[in-house]
Amino acid sequence: MGLLAAGTPLPWTESRKYNNHIRKQGIEQLLYVFQAAAKRDNDPLLWGDEIEYMMLEVDHNNKNVMLDVTHDFILDRFAEVDYPLCVANDVLYHPEYGRFMLEATPASPYDGYVDEYVEFNMKKRRDLAKFRLNQFAEEEGLLLQRKNLVPISLTTFPRMGRSDFLNIENPWDHKNSASRSLYLPDEVINRHVRFPTLTANIRIRRGEKVCMNIPMFKDQFTPETDDTVYERDWFVPEDKESLKATKPGFIYLDAMGFGMGSSCLQVTFQAPNINLARYVYDSLVNFAPIMLAASAAAPAFKGWLADQDVRWNVISGAVDCRTPWERNTEPILPKYNKDGMGGLSEDAKKSVQRIPKSRYSTVDLYLGGNEFFNRTLNDTDVPINEKVLKTLLENDKAPLDYDLAKHFAHLYIRDPISVFEESIDQDNKTSTNHFENLQSTNWQTLRFKPPTQEAVPSNKRVPGWRVEFRPLEVQLTDFENAAYSTMLYLIVEYLLTFPDRINAYIPMSQVWDNMHTAHHTDAILNEHFYWKNSFESSDFNTSMHSINEIFHSMENGIFNKFINPILRHKGFVSKDWKELKNSSKHLRTYYYLKLISDRTSGKIPSIAKYIRNFIMNHKDYRHDSRVSKSINYDLIMACERITNLDNSNNDMTDLFGDDITNYLIHSKLSFEK
Ligand code: ADP
Ligand code: MG
Ligand code: MG
Ligand code: MG
Ligand code: MG
Ligand code: MG
Repeated sequence: MGLLAAGTPLPWTESRKYNNHIRKQGIEQLLYVFQAAAKRDNDPLLWGDEIEYMMLEVDHNNKNVMLDVTHDFILDRFAEVDYPLCVANDVLYHPEYGRFMLEATPASPYDGYVDEYVEFNMKKRRDLAKFRLNQFAEEEGLLLQRKNLVPISLTTFPRMGRSDFLNIENPWDHKNSASRSLYLPDEVINRHVRFPTLTANIRIRRGEKVCMNIPMFKDQFTPETDDTVYERDWFVPEDKESLKATKPGFIYLDAMGFGMGSSCLQVTFQAPNINLARYVYDSLVNFAPIMLAASAAAPAFKGWLADQDVRWNVISGAVDCRTPWERNTEPILPKYNKDGMGGLSEDAKKSVQRIPKSRYSTVDLYLGGNEFFNRTLNDTDVPINEKVLKTLLENDKAPLDYDLAKHFAHLYIRDPISVFEESIDQDNKTSTNHFENLQSTNWQTLRFKPPTQEAVPSNKRVPGWRVEFRPLEVQLTDFENAAYSTMLYLIVEYLLTFPDRINAYIPMSQVWDNMHTAHHTDAILNEHFYWKNSFESSDFNTSMHSINEIFHSMENGIFNKFINPILRHKGFVSKDWKELKNSSKHLRTYYYLKLISDRTSGKIPSIAKYIRNFIMNHKDYRHDSRVSKSINYDLIMACERITNLDNSNNDMTDLFGDDITNYLIHSKLSFEK
């Protein structure tokens, strides 16, 4: 998320008048980008990660932890007074959907393999946020009341939407007109007016509140239904939805904040040119579900243990602006939504099509553009905007090939959901604002990021063609986040070093199935996923494998097929990644890889499993799937200790096992030595 434009966001019934205008101008902007940048080449492998934190207020007297929505001014501080400090430390902070959220990135991208610097930079970001929050707590006298403010990189807050989960008095003494949620006051939403408007626009376009039914973990005394569901009479008809929308055996979630309020780890890579960017994108498509499962960190929602381990489908539902008709389903309240067309204009109703997936979902189409690709791989039902397709194929600026055109024509089936009055008219030769409007609200497992019109081949001061990897769940420690980022970096470096060697394509329908499977509880241990039989043949044959096999198989496992060869190529090892254990220079990278190896072989738990175990073994747990305040407090305190590499309670040993824990406690980043 970049800087926020000032201005007036239009409510849906106003903004929808500009839908076609924005799409049309956005596509023209894209064509100018292609005209400028299509021939760009030899860009270096720059890359960078993004980490999202939740700011928490911890109240030790009452043994409660709350999301902190009262110190979001920290972002202004980082952007103004602290800006030189941030730049000097090579860190930047960005706003996110949640008022309690912070996003942080390196200020300038990493250049190739940078060893421990990734973790060092992550640590700087966390330390600075921690330092300022602690200072605020001190200034406000919170420390004297045995309270504190801390940032934490936890994928979901287990008690979001339950009593006393926000650090403000009386959040329910007024109505939450943006989300109309039964659980989340609008104070969870970023104060910048873009975000409540976005929230309302999605709801109004859809014609009802968003609705995520997430499988509830079934324990001995778990109730049949989510007993936090109730009826209210503030908003008609939204307040009548809940009892119809909830389902036995599921946790009912009704607001954008449940999804966009969760945290993740994203990594962006620059490729030398557009064709290699397409190749990297396509090659990573099936890594997305596998890495989602391997990073699982979200087993609890709205005070319930879920029968799933990750956040993905929650966010997918949380921003699902499709009408019931587009989803091919009945409205929750047919009386209020007769044709099932939600907030579409009369004109738009004439050209609707069914849309199988939310705008937040798995990648839909391979981009192609290389010798391994075959169009039959795009074997799922993916609607496209025919008009956009035609323009992209036939124009006087920069005609695109069919496969690339189809990718953008699919993104452009969506409506803009956030339009600023001041930005309706743009100079398409210099602005990408309208293009980005739709591009950046298509949240898929990967994002193909084109550059701007400035990115002519000779202008190396601006970014080139990039690919963003988006499925990873954020991890508690900088060590873990650096581990997942580094592993992915090594995979991408391998792909870019030997692009003629690896054919990673499998049918898209199997990737979608894998994504579904990746949600399951303990998918790392128990599930089987489609994985390539051979990365070196021209076919697309797969068979089903466990995560352990996918990482460790001697034939086609990730370590053997991707990590070992790139480490050999770099001269770090002669055969196998485990040799790094004897390297003084790359010892930490050994532990990065060992962390992921031990998790994917089941030797140590995922964060999801660790949290699940913690909750189920807590003295206050009543075998009813409920995460009480005291359980939540103790869990977050344990997570805090882990984050700070404090093993005084053996929390680190529970999460990492003895070997990694000992290493982490006794080693320091070489930068700090
Ligand atoms: P977004 O939220 O749109 O994904 P951010 O700016 O938050 O974008 O994060 C983008 C990431 O890409 C950051 O880690 C940044 O360091 C990195 N990055 C910046 N420039 C480049 C580049 N030229 N190539 C690759 N990555 C880059
Ligand atoms: Mg973000
Ligand atoms: Mg970002
Ligand atoms: Mg973003
Ligand atoms: Mg991003
Ligand atoms: Mg098997």
